[in-house]
Amino acid sequence: MTKAPSIKALGDSIRIQQFADPADMTQESAERDVAVQLLDRESALSRQLRAAIERIADGSYGLCLECEEEIAPKRLKAIPWAERCIGCQEKADGSSSQRGRMSNSEDWAEAA
Ligand SMILES: [Zn+2]
Repeated sequence: MTKAPSIKALGDSIRIQQFADPADMTQESAERDVAVQLLDRESALSRQLRAAIERIADGSYGLCLECEEEIAPKRLKAIPWAERCIGCQEKADGSSSQRGRMSNSEDWAEAA
């Protein structure tokens, strides 16, 4: 039996490289974080755009994903790929950025 190349061995060699020069690594990882953030934002936007195009195709475009009410035309003009009405978007933003823990415990309570 042959063993597949070990992921652990790969991880060890990466770790050794990272500790080679801590100052260098901090700078590099900060730059990488910014790049990842930009990439994240871009892929989130392109995902939303694709989803909006799909909703146009299936006729659900302009309806809130949460409450299925129509999204205000003014909002759609500003954000054509909007997935939620203003009320639901504010709720979603609030729970993800400020109250991540609260929403987790709410999920937990709901499941129980
Ligand atoms: Zn809504």
